[in-house]
Amino acid sequence: MKDEPCLQLSEIFYSIQGESSFAGYPCLFFRLSGCNLRCSYCDAKYTYEEPATPTPLSTLLTEATRYPNALIEITGGEPLLQEEVYPLMDALLATGRTVLLETNGSLSIARVPQAVVKIIDLKCPDSGMAEKMDLANLDLLAPHDEIKFVVSSRADYDWARTMMEEHRLAEKAKVILSPVIGRLAPALLAQWLMADALPARLQLQLHTLLWPGMKRGV
Ligand code: SF4
Repeated sequence: MKDEPCLQLSEIFYSIQGESSFAGYPCLFFRLSGCNLRCSYCDAKYTYEEPATPTPLSTLLTEATRYPNALIEITGGEPLLQEEVYPLMDALLATGRTVLLETNGSLSIARVPQAVVKIIDLKCPDSGMAEKMDLANLDLLAPHDEIKFVVSSRADYDWARTMMEEHRLAEKAKVILSPVIGRLAPALLAQWLMADALPARLQLQLHTLLWPGMKRGV
């Protein structure tokens, strides 16, 4: 008998989706362990600094059945580092679930099933990771996908605006701008967004407003 796929997990939690155009909906999160980037503002270092929990695919599918009406988000770390994420996505889609995949923009999304909603970070310069982006992904977007810029400064904002224009991102997917809390005042980002009337939406992390100070499980 073929061995069952096993994923390296950082945490499973049920919460309110705090980001993306799905913000506000109940969501079951599978946070996979490991990341190939080291963003300057990373708030999920535990995903690559702490040991992972090996978890069989069937356990995750059973967990999903406990929340039959919730969204499911696969996140990290960087979930596409694990080959087993592909059978997980296929199995969840086969049961009719809405599946979101949050990925850091450095790995190809070519093999991700079309039906999965891909939320792709485009790392801005202040993250220190802008050079690592796989820009070929920008030609693989579906209209339901989302491009997220996490913005630390005016320089980041200008970079995001240029990327939007050069790659006509708003015509290909939804575009989100999110401020790095503690580095950029959300109202300032809102002001820039309004001044340019960019076809993008401002995102504030709903879970940090609901549960301030909680770093995990939200
Ligand atoms: S991609 Fe995400 S988990 Fe990885 S270093 Fe950047 S912020 Fe942290």
